[in-house]
Amino acid sequence: MAARVIIIGGGVSGLSTAYFLGKLGIASLLVEKSERLGGLIKTDVVDGCQLEAGPDSYIASKPAVTELAQELGDLGREIIPSNDKARRVFIRRHGRMIPMPPGMVFMVPSELKPAFESPLFSVQSKLRFLTERFARPRRRNKDISVGQLVREHFGEEMLDYVAEPLLAGVYGGDATALSAASVLPRFVAYEEKYGSLIAGAREERRAQGSHAGAMFQSFQGGMQSLTDALAAATRAHTEICHGEAIHVSQSEDAWQVETTIGSFASREVVLACPAHVASRLLRGAVPVVAGELAGIPYSSAILVTLVFERASISHSLNGFGFLVPRRERNTIAAATWINTKFPSRIADGRAAIRAFIVGEQATRLLPRENVELLSLVRRDLSQFMGVEAEPRFATAHKWPDSMPQYVVGHNERQQRLRAALEQHPGIHLVGNAYSGVGVPDCVRMAKDTSLVIRSRIAA
Ligand SMILES: Cc1cc2nc3c(=O)[nH]c(=O)nc-3n(C[C@H](O)[C@H](O)[C@H](O)COP(=O)(O)OP(=O)(O)OC[C@H]3O[C@@H](n4cnc5c(N)ncnc54)[C@H](O)[C@@H]3O)c2cc1C
Repeated sequence: MAARVIIIGGGVSGLSTAYFLGKLGIASLLVEKSERLGGLIKTDVVDGCQLEAGPDSYIASKPAVTELAQELGDLGREIIPSNDKARRVFIRRHGRMIPMPPGMVFMVPSELKPAFESPLFSVQSKLRFLTERFARPRRRNKDISVGQLVREHFGEEMLDYVAEPLLAGVYGGDATALSAASVLPRFVAYEEKYGSLIAGAREERRAQGSHAGAMFQSFQGGMQSLTDALAAATRAHTEICHGEAIHVSQSEDAWQVETTIGSFASREVVLACPAHVASRLLRGAVPVVAGELAGIPYSSAILVTLVFERASISHSLNGFGFLVPRRERNTIAAATWINTKFPSRIADGRAAIRAFIVGEQATRLLPRENVELLSLVRRDLSQFMGVEAEPRFATAHKWPDSMPQYVVGHNERQQRLRAALEQHPGIHLVGNAYSGVGVPDCVRMAKDTSLVIRSRIAA
């Protein structure tokens, strides 16, 4: 096989690596174990509704996806913003849905008046907001958990009712284990510069001014438009093979990739699959790298989306959805009201709710049948939103071991990984387990990796 670069994994990371390599005139062979490309990105179109099986959008402030879509021509014109004039998130507390007060920058109340007026917080927390503004700058000599950072600045209540459910929605993780330096680097930087996170968040908002656009973006045809467009754009210079990579070994002057459909060799191999898979593949050839990769824990997620007759639901769907803090959680950790967040996705006369099950609930429920998942989700929607109607239809997608956890010490692990990889030139890692968990992070990493490969080939 004459392909120059072997890419393992045909999700957005692998496809964008192939695309950027192609732009540099470098051919590749992409090995994807499943029948379809796209990995976690999949858009189902049912009954006139566009339902996302994985990511529903990407953070607009990270430019990599927008830039890529613009390069891909038509896709750039298909970008749609989230409906931010209706952006409001509710938090379940003491059996009520309480809107997150305006001005919250993640778990930091940058505007004190709405935070003081909100029933989300107790008097004790409100007093903490006042005193936090006088926190002195500090540089920590080691990584701490997000839980510790939030607790030290704002107390337990902010951790339980804001930080934990927000992180569960993005990382499916546990705030007491996640790394502050990796997950919330800008707040660690505010602590160093200002002491007070409130002061830092206010500065951030001042700098943004009125230029802040929509928080999320997606595509008219759904997130799968991105991976479909990438697959089409890579066709000219990428051979796509559907088979499973089994292991990677080193021969004299190349890396050897064994797959279920044959053996391929190249001096450059990109592992664009989950870190736990990359670890297995590299165990024999590069045990140090494999060991570090195995140390990145993953959690699972289940997404259940229900579509109803709009008229059968009395709830006004007056926001993007709600979060359920662990203390109040039965099954779902978060839900999105798709009609409000991306109105164009849902057919007239329908209402769609996307329910997110993560963490220990997801691990426990993965083996269960979809009917059981649906019934548990419906029980929550009944209790939380008063939804009793029978859905017209529902979809359920299980994503085992899909969400990498950036636990305390993640940055140090990345440094060790980079150092170990330097000893084994030609092995490259791309994906959401390393320097950002979202789609834009994967695309940015793919682009950077293509440049590294070009400079190695040119040398
Ligand atoms: C439920 C959920 C919701 C999310 N929501 C958002 C969101 O709204 N916004 C956002 O930005 N991000 C979101 N993310 C994160 C985002 O989906 C990921 O960062 C991104 O899709 C990862 O892409 P990837 O290509 O690195 O990995 P994947 O999409 O996992 O692709 C890896 C590919 O490798 C293949 N593979 C695995 N093993 C092998 C093997 N041995 N041989 C060959 N192929 C193999 C797999 O089949 C797969 O196709 C979400 C994630 C989840 C789980």
